Amino acid sequence: MKRIIAALALLGCAAGTAAQAPQAITIRAGRLLDGRGGAQQNVVVRVEAGKIVSVGPSSEAVTHDLSKYTLLPGFIDTHVHILWHFGEDGRFDTRGETPDDRIIAALRNARATVLGGFTTVQSVGEPGDLALRKALTEKCPATAECIRLVGPRILTSVRQITERTGGRGNANGLATPDQLRQAVRDAKEAGADVIKLFASASIREGGKQTMSDEQLQAACGEARTLGLRTLVHAHSPESIRAAVVAGCTQIEHGTFATDEVLKLMAERGTFFDPNVGLVLQNYLENKAKFLGIGNYNDAGFAAMERAIPVVIEMFKRALKTPNLKIVYGTDAVAGAHGRNIEEAVVRVRRGGQKPMDAIRSLTSLSAESLRMQDTIGAIAPGLQADLVAVEGDPLRDITALRRIAFVMTGGVVIDSGRPRGTPRQAAPAAPRRLRDR
Ligand SMILES: [Zn+2]
Repeated sequence: MKRIIAALALLGCAAGTAAQAPQAITIRAGRLLDGRGGAQQNVVVRVEAGKIVSVGPSSEAVTHDLSKYTLLPGFIDTHVHILWHFGEDGRFDTRGETPDDRIIAALRNARATVLGGFTTVQSVGEPGDLALRKALTEKCPATAECIRLVGPRILTSVRQITERTGGRGNANGLATPDQLRQAVRDAKEAGADVIKLFASASIREGGKQTMSDEQLQAACGEARTLGLRTLVHAHSPESIRAAVVAGCTQIEHGTFATDEVLKLMAERGTFFDPNVGLVLQNYLENKAKFLGIGNYNDAGFAAMERAIPVVIEMFKRALKTPNLKIVYGTDAVAGAHGRNIEEAVVRVRRGGQKPMDAIRSLTSLSAESLRMQDTIGAIAPGLQADLVAVEGDPLRDITALRRIAFVMTGGVVIDSGRPRGTPRQAAPAAPRRLRDR
């Protein structure tokens, strides 16, 4: 850990601050969107001991005057790969790195993510997520050398489960239902907050169902017994249907979802996380960095390029499906961290989602999908003071969400690391090609 801290000092991260004195923080917001569909003008949010205690009109002097900005709950991304990064040669191949190297790279991702307004992410997931979370949450001793690392709250699946997990000794290599139940228990034992399953192949390989109906029932059933949620990677309609019928909690991607399975998800209350605005576009943008590694081949890239209009069209149908709970997830991989908000821009601009609905998805609905609606996802008394201020009105121009002016997690202002007195920097602008995809 010492090495990680030393490396972070070289990255020029936030200067160390001693633990903040427990005093009331008051924030005046010019405009406030509460994450649950409510909007107010010129209100004061009072924060004590890291939590919101009141929201309402007031003429009192405040500790933070954000009257020129729009205040929102901290954003939530339910699907990221927070450790994925490009290696020193700029390529995705990072074999040869030590576990510490990986955590150091992930700390950059974490910092970019929180400065982009995302105060909670769900990583799906690898064991290093736990080390990253530990690094981010460990209390700094109050010494001058101490670097306060910044990042979002992290939930993790710790590992991913496929049709083969636990079945290596079997003749066909496929896991039996009992072996999958064991794999789910093992993941919980390892510290998983959520179970990540692969019900279909990658989009680069056609996205066909890979886990059998019986396997999905075993894995999602066991997770339910243990009180854990299940996130299921599924592209084909068959794999989506099987996962929904098995009672899994949330479907990821859903590229080839038909109206019938969209309706089925809505009927069963299954959360749907279509990733339409960042992951595929980011792969294409960074093609040279991935090409030639694993299934990142020419055919795979061609499949991803073809999938972009397909997912946009699917998303439009998802929006028309009554009662479908569309949550916010980007599938952020290497190259995408810090740009998680691009998904919202695409959902609104290309998909036609109403800005207020996109914001509810990004905050309260995603909090509900994490079963954390009583902790995060809204600006309301009793909830954690995870707050983001942006320049402009996102209800008129969704790209306002890119212009982050202020971030607070649990009542602590996240410092961007700029020297005191210099103008606050906006979040890094997205490359041109990504803006409208
Ligand atoms: Zn993913």
